[in-house]
Amino acid sequence: SGRLAGKYALITAAGAGIGRATALAFAKEGAKVLATDINAAALASLAAEHPAITTHMLDVTHAEQIQALVREWGPFDVLFNCAGYVHAGTILETDDISWRRSFSINVDSMFHLCKAVLPGMLERGKGSIINMSSVASSIKGVPNRFAYTATKAAVIGLTRSIAADYVTRGVRCNAICPGTVKTPSLGDRVRALGGDEETNWRSFVQRQPMGRLGEPEEIAALALYLAADESAFTTGTVHVVDGGWSN
Ligand code: NAD
Repeated sequence: SGRLAGKYALITAAGAGIGRATALAFAKEGAKVLATDINAAALASLAAEHPAITTHMLDVTHAEQIQALVREWGPFDVLFNCAGYVHAGTILETDDISWRRSFSINVDSMFHLCKAVLPGMLERGKGSIINMSSVASSIKGVPNRFAYTATKAAVIGLTRSIAADYVTRGVRCNAICPGTVKTPSLGDRVRALGGDEETNWRSFVQRQPMGRLGEPEEIAALALYLAADESAFTTGTVHVVDGGWSN
């Protein structure tokens, strides 16, 4: 039983942060989950938390790894493309390698994953794809996030396009756009600023109109809704969950 009873979900970057919270939320609502990441230790500790979670190593930048995984473990009812990489810098501080890396992890990955999973969904006439974008995208220009913002805008475009192509065939595709969420990688970004860590955390919190950051579970709740049949009338949409940051 549960809101995702009988569904089988594939999640990328499920080892930490939003992906991990979502894997647990899906499993608690009755889904079978294939949780993937590049961090074996993180996957092992996640698998220990819920019996409905199976784990597998997957680097989303490897197209052949994606195809092999879907061939072996699919078909899936739900795909949550959560993996993403945040490059910090203006256009003048972004070199070709950082630009390429941003597109490889944030966009090419979704192209390959959606393409691998879609045939199985179409064959069975059902499926929900959830793509991780961000408020830093076509929604809002955020300072120092040039490559990141460009990739997350591309995610919205690919999401809407897939939704338009398969709207009559039972497959839905939606994007999630969080504001700033308290995850391990945000901790890394705060430390990377250098100086006093406490002051840096405060600077992230100060730009939040609600006076606090989001929790991974608050994003997982939205992913859960989009994965479930409750959202059956929703496709090609862009869901902002940002504590009022973009308002
Ligand atoms: P996180 O950084 O806390 O965890 C990321 C996980 O991704 C780690 O377990 C890591 O091992 C894994 N990973 C890294 N490279 C990978 C690869 N090549 N293949 C597979 N897995 C890989 O994550 P988070 O902060 O929860 O972010 C998840 C997603 O949410 C990203 O797409 C990010 O852009 C997006 N997002 C985050 C925030 C935020 O404030 N945290 C805001 C908006 C959007």
